[in-house]
Amino acid sequence: MFHSEEIMKPVTENACSLCAPLGAALAFKGVEGCVPLLHGSQGCATYIRRYMISHFKEPVDIASSNFHEDTAIFGGGANLRTAIDNILRQYRPKIIGIASTCLSETIGDDVPMMLKEIRKANPDCPPLVFASTPSYGGSHGEGYWKSLSALVEQLLPEGPSNMAGKREELLPLFTAALSPADQRHLKDLVGLMGFFPCLVPDSSETLDGGQWEEYETLPRGGASLESLQNMAEAKAGLHLGAASSLREVSPLTILGRKSGLAPHFQGLPVGIRATDRFLALLQDLSGQAIPKMLLEERSRLIDAYVDSHKIVSGLKAMVFGDEDLVAALVPFLAEIGVKTLVAASGSRSGHLKKALESLLSKEEQEGMQVVEGADYATLEKLAEENPPDFFMGSSKGYAMSRKTRTPLIRVGFPIHDRVGGPSIRILGYGGARELFERICNGILEVRQEATGVGFSYL
Ligand code: SF4
Repeated sequence: MFHSEEIMKPVTENACSLCAPLGAALAFKGVEGCVPLLHGSQGCATYIRRYMISHFKEPVDIASSNFHEDTAIFGGGANLRTAIDNILRQYRPKIIGIASTCLSETIGDDVPMMLKEIRKANPDCPPLVFASTPSYGGSHGEGYWKSLSALVEQLLPEGPSNMAGKREELLPLFTAALSPADQRHLKDLVGLMGFFPCLVPDSSETLDGGQWEEYETLPRGGASLESLQNMAEAKAGLHLGAASSLREVSPLTILGRKSGLAPHFQGLPVGIRATDRFLALLQDLSGQAIPKMLLEERSRLIDAYVDSHKIVSGLKAMVFGDEDLVAALVPFLAEIGVKTLVAASGSRSGHLKKALESLLSKEEQEGMQVVEGADYATLEKLAEENPPDFFMGSSKGYAMSRKTRTPLIRVGFPIHDRVGGPSIRILGYGGARELFERICNGILEVRQEATGVGFSYL
């Protein structure tokens, strides 16, 4: 069995997670015509904008209700009204996604009540969806999933609809945070299996669009309001994320309660085993055979494993990041013969450990330490005590990688020190092959540098 612990330190030194409203902004940016609005001070919105622009290299507008000293004393109702008026005038949004911040939660602003009054005064106002996301209540993962749940809870009518006449081809998909490239790939996979995917969030265009001919106030793309409301007509739906599947409330559970659809929960399809499980489920639901091109892609992945297994087999890794991502990467590493020494997340939900227990064999769990509530100071100390051959996670691990002279395979969010974060693929057979080859090349680069003579041929 692996050893698991939640780090309880008097101070957090460089948290291995981001703030909850950032997760809310990531979720709301995947909805068509949506402007995220943070109810709090400018600083919260500026930090989140900065993080997202640096990773996605796209314009990212995030509004703020702009708290000042007096707002912190008298409440932010007037500021929220002004912020919504400004957004309606400047952006003409189809929806506004409002997330609270530490300050507005601490002073006890009753945002749902404020929004009720704003809607009453302006009946033509587009939908205003609210998620309570104080950062002291959880990580960006918490903010992300709470916002997705808020979208389903607040946009879809209550009560199971009639199962007769349900649309079998419609497949709502709620996923852990993915790169736009993986979102596109996932939609293709689901489409190949005979479904019309309704991916939520869908930032495949909003956060990775093409060149604009003319300035647009809001980027194109995203899950449309109509498609969100149509989800009630689906027969089945999927939640992809092994750790978040264990949450008490999933947007899919809410959708199931409201529409009567059959909910299915799985981890992210990273690697052969997980992608096989994912496609088997789609095959069960659609009755359609797995297309030849996917079977060929699987065969090419196995061939790549065989060709290069000697480069990575027997290596040791430290993996950190979002719970769902770590829960998908560790079984993938086990599949290619890499032993994970430490699997870490800044979240404290306890779901990472349970998810890994369900996905790994006893042998694969042996000697692995699962750290929840992790910070980078702790991870660096663990890496010095028991050095891994490589790190795998976001660019926030770079300082530790540089100090310990250990390669970092960049995956997840944020990637601040490289270009191409939005195009990193890990899902499906094709994504696993790209990830496998990036690990092999990362290791080869270190070995090549370390040899006295270097080598130019494998
Ligand atoms: S104050 Fe809270 S919500 Fe604002 S940036 Fe800091 S942690 Fe995030």
